Amino acid sequence: MSVLNNLTGKTAVVTGGGRGIGAAVARALADAGASVVVAARTQTQIEGVADELRAAGREAWPVVCDVADPKSVSDMARMATEQLGHVDIMVNNAGIAPSAPLHKITLDEWNRVLAVNVTGTFLCTQAFVPGMVKRSWGRVVNVASIAGKTGAKYIAAYSASKHAVLGFTRSVAAEVAASGVTVNAVCPGYVDSDMTRETVNRIAGKTGLSREKALQSLLDMSPQKRLIESEEVAHTVLWLCGDAARSVNGEAIVMDGGALLA
Ligand code: NAP
Repeated sequence: MSVLNNLTGKTAVVTGGGRGIGAAVARALADAGASVVVAARTQTQIEGVADELRAAGREAWPVVCDVADPKSVSDMARMATEQLGHVDIMVNNAGIAPSAPLHKITLDEWNRVLAVNVTGTFLCTQAFVPGMVKRSWGRVVNVASIAGKTGAKYIAAYSASKHAVLGFTRSVAAEVAASGVTVNAVCPGYVDSDMTRETVNRIAGKTGLSREKALQSLLDMSPQKRLIESEEVAHTVLWLCGDAARSVNGEAIVMDGGALLA
C-alpha cells in the first residue's frame, strides 16, 4: 500500500455498502486501514460485509439506514459517531436506477429517485462535513454516473438526479475548499452489479430480447465492450480519499472507457 493511500486511523461511512460498488468501496477503504461503517437498508447484506471485513482483521460496523429518511440518517450519524468517534470520509454511494419513458414516470417514482440519489447525498454530507471542516481534514466522494454528465433514453429521473449530485458536489467543494476537506464524484458507465443485472432484465422484459442480447446492447455503449468492475470504481474512490488526491476538489471523474470524450 502506498503511503499516500494509507488510511490507518481514518474513519469512514459508506452508504449502499451491502453489495455492489458500495461493498467494494468498504473493502478497499478497510484494506487501506480505515474503520468503516457499512450502511444500507438490508440488514443481512450490511452484516455480511461487516462480518467479512472483521474476519479479515479490519474494523467494520453495520448500521441500517435509509438515506432518503432524515430521521434514519440522523440516527445513522449518531451511531457512526458512537462507533468511530468521528467521521473523516463519507462515501455517498446508495442509489436506485429505475427507468421508464417520460410519459410513464409517475410523480412518486420521480420523487423517490431524487429522494434517494440527491436528498440522501445531501443529508449524509451535511451530517458529517461540519465535523470534517472543524478537524481540517475530510473527504466526501459521491458515486454519481455518466448519466450525471449526459442524457439517454428512458433515464430522465436517474439522469436528472445524477446531474444534481454533480452540481451539489461542485458547490460544496467550493464552500469547503480552504478547509482541508475535498468533495468529489466518480461517474462510472455500466458496472457489473445487481443494478445492471436489473437493467438487463428490464430491457429483456420490455423488448423481448434475450438476456444476452440485452446485455450486448449495454456493452455496445462502451468503447471497451465490457462492464466495469466494482473494484475499479472502489480504487478510484480510495485514491480520492488518500493524500495523493488532496489537490483534487470538485471533480467528476468519468470511468467509462472513453465513451464520453467531451
Ligand atoms: P446496487 O448493487 O443496486 O446497490 C445499491 C446499494 O444502494 C445497495 O446496497 C442498496 O441497499 C443501497 N440503497 C438503495 N436505496 C437505498 C436507500 N434508500 N438507503 C440506503 N441505501 C440504499 O447498485 P450499484 O451498481 O452497486 O450502485 C451503487 C451506486 O453506483 C449507485 O448510486 C448507482 O447509481 C451508481 N452507479 C451504478 C452504475 C451501474 O452500472 N451499476 C453505474 C454508474 C453509477 P438496500 O437496498 O439494502 O438499501
